[in-house]
Amino acid sequence: MTVESPAKSMKRDGQDLTAGDGIATGKTGMVVTAHPLASKVGADVLRNGGNAVDAAVAIQFALNVVEPMMSGIGGGGFMMVYNADRRQVSIVDSRERAPMSAHPRMFLDENGKEIPFSVRAHEGYAVGVPGTLKGLDVALNRWGTRSLEELIDPAIRLAEKGVRVNRTLARSIAENQEWLSRTAARDLFVPDGKPLQEGDWLVQRDLARTFRLIKARGIDAFYGGPIGKALVKEVNKRNGAMALSDLVRYEVTMDKPLWGSLHGVKVATMPPPSSGGVAVLHILKLLEQVDAKDVDLRSAEKYHLFAEAMHLAYADRAAYLGDPEFVDVPIKGMLDSRYIAERAALINREQANKDVKPGDPWKYEKEKGMRSNVWEDHENGQTTHFTVADRWGNLVSYTTTIEQEFGTGIMVPGYGFFLNNELTDFDAKPGGPNEVRPNKRPRSSMAPTIIFQNGKPLMTVGSPGGATIIASVYQVIFNKLGKGLDLKQAIEEPRIYSARYPTIRWEKGVPDQAREELTRMGHRFESEPTEIGNVNAIWIDWRKKRYYGAGDSSRDSTAIGLNR
Ligand code: GLU
Repeated sequence: MTVESPAKSMKRDGQDLTAGDGIATGKTGMVVTAHPLASKVGADVLRNGGNAVDAAVAIQFALNVVEPMMSGIGGGGFMMVYNADRRQVSIVDSRERAPMSAHPRMFLDENGKEIPFSVRAHEGYAVGVPGTLKGLDVALNRWGTRSLEELIDPAIRLAEKGVRVNRTLARSIAENQEWLSRTAARDLFVPDGKPLQEGDWLVQRDLARTFRLIKARGIDAFYGGPIGKALVKEVNKRNGAMALSDLVRYEVTMDKPLWGSLHGVKVATMPPPSSGGVAVLHILKLLEQVDAKDVDLRSAEKYHLFAEAMHLAYADRAAYLGDPEFVDVPIKGMLDSRYIAERAALINREQANKDVKPGDPWKYEKEKGMRSNVWEDHENGQTTHFTVADRWGNLVSYTTTIEQEFGTGIMVPGYGFFLNNELTDFDAKPGGPNEVRPNKRPRSSMAPTIIFQNGKPLMTVGSPGGATIIASVYQVIFNKLGKGLDLKQAIEEPRIYSARYPTIRWEKGVPDQAREELTRMGHRFESEPTEIGNVNAIWIDWRKKRYYGAGDSSRDSTAIGLNR
């Protein structure tokens, strides 16, 4: 991985952008997103006196334009906000919900077999009721100082004027051209049957018109208005069963973070319906228990301990995690030190554990709850994670998604935005904590996180990547807090991902020797390296009164620091 960032070329007027070491510094603000134009939109809001939440809202709209395949008003997400005044962390949870017509067997065919993932992921029935726009509105009403009408403007300009297709978008269009060609997205992304290439110009007039409608009529234009009507019509035309009342009924929740203590810090992360936070904390606690920070950064021993800890955590994730409005989740048990010790004892330092089963965290809770034997490996989605800090010390750590790249691939005709396929995050097989139910939220892995030390925020972190999010987030925290790497190195250090024995996904840079040694221990590596996630993070030095921002080279991540 290189440690270069495109932000270097943007250096100008009093801003200290990404420096040579790939870390931007800022005294009065910091923005890190996966796209330089979205970062600039956020930095402009801060520069004009807006706060971190104002900037986050403008960034989300801008990302809908510049990274249309990753997030937008057709999806949902988790916006974690640290309010410096109240010293309080809250989460606006705009996770999509299943429409009222949904039922536990909806992803099975007439013989009771699962409909193949690639089929069910591109149908109208995979679309969850979108929450993003409502989430932005709720966040602004609660913390914002600028209006939605104002904050949507930069996105309208970008959509109308056009943006260059970057390498990430070009790759994604090429990979998804078949699906895009079946929907209203064809003319825009695969004109004359040819996918847009890197460097091509992308103008999104329909999306600009949709944003203008939202600007003029507020979010009701979506939740019950003309945009919602067009959305419902398209979903139902494509085998879905959504009603306008599903949109009208949709509400976000305000969630309290899940807190954990480790490495002498306190971690605020995402509770269920995400499995992300509890799995990140569980893995980090297992690693603490086996003293993983004392082994060398690129040693076989470290990768082995990582793989073993992941296998244990992902087994419990499959057995116990679901939407807490519908199932009890043994979070206390999973993070109980006795349970951690019990599970860590299953890690053999010499050999891969070939038969990892879920444990029984209910033992460490007062009541006993459900456990499932359903374990499905879902395809890994992609989304986007960004983070903002303002001059008052407020922070946003926001992971936002339409699930797979381009979601279902279905664009609402005439409105220019993509519909998520978030309902594929449910298990297709009924019976477990993550089975489909009407109005239920599918289990997520997104893990926006803010870390505190002595009561003060120290770091924000998060990543896209479906189930791999958990691996990306815990490894960056481990690298930074356990190994003391600088922020950029902590992000660029090659990661591995393995949800269950034996296959390990790996990034370039994992030494051959370590891979050979792990193979001898019983693990198996995928034949080629792949990039895992896209971590964007902020580090706060209170003594120097500085923000440090760094993004991941897996996309055009760009950190912009403000100094005035
Ligand atoms: N559907 C995924 C999740 O909620 C999001 C996709 C991603 O995060 O990359 O975990």
